[in-house]
Amino acid sequence: MNYIDKLNDHLHNDYTKKLYTYGIENKYPIMELNGIANLMFIIKQNNIKRILEIGTAISYSAHMMASVDCVEHIDTIERDTDTANIAKEFINNGPSKDKIHLFVDDALKISNDLLLKEYDMILFDAAKVQNNNFFDKYAPLLKVGGIIVTDNILFHGCVENQEGLTKNVRNMVKKIDQYNQSLIDLENYDSYFLPVGDGQAIIVKRG
Ligand code: SAH
Ligand code: MG
Repeated sequence: MNYIDKLNDHLHNDYTKKLYTYGIENKYPIMELNGIANLMFIIKQNNIKRILEIGTAISYSAHMMASVDCVEHIDTIERDTDTANIAKEFINNGPSKDKIHLFVDDALKISNDLLLKEYDMILFDAAKVQNNNFFDKYAPLLKVGGIIVTDNILFHGCVENQEGLTKNVRNMVKKIDQYNQSLIDLENYDSYFLPVGDGQAIIVKRG
């Protein structure tokens, strides 16, 4: 752990620390701890109650968000069944099973009728090339004043420096860059780009 992670380590309880360790040891792409700190800060300061997460993985980030007092309800979507089974175990055996609702489905295919009509916050942390499609499908489920957080907008520095990347990765980071740029000119939203974790875009729906 680096210095900042050591300082933020107090954000873990025994259960989320177990998830964190499991995620790192088994190489799941869980959110970096300082990105989690930013999320928890946003949640607390905005008294966020209802959250939609795209990309559960093992449910580390869902449990970290659920550990903030004000949070009442988290819907989280994971399409990979093996990963979702691990998340299911962690959710059912954990302290937040009444708050966290897992949907095992492709977030681009699931019916929005299964979800709430108005979330306070939506987190995009799934297939990065789909961010624009996630935005089109899910922004209507965000309340006015609500916040969309998009994770991994830097993609490990590859978006900023595309030299030496394979064609596949270059195509992916081009899409990520297009999405990031598209947020600047959105009508009715204010966007803020932060270098926390692997980079996060904070998008606020105006009234
Ligand atoms: N939020 C998690 C990490 C998510 S990793 C955490 O920080 O703990 C990204 C996950 O998104 C992967 O498990 C992947 O299977 C899932 N994913 C990718 N595309 C998806 C899609 N279209 N629908 C649902 N899940 C998706
Ligand atoms: Mg991420």
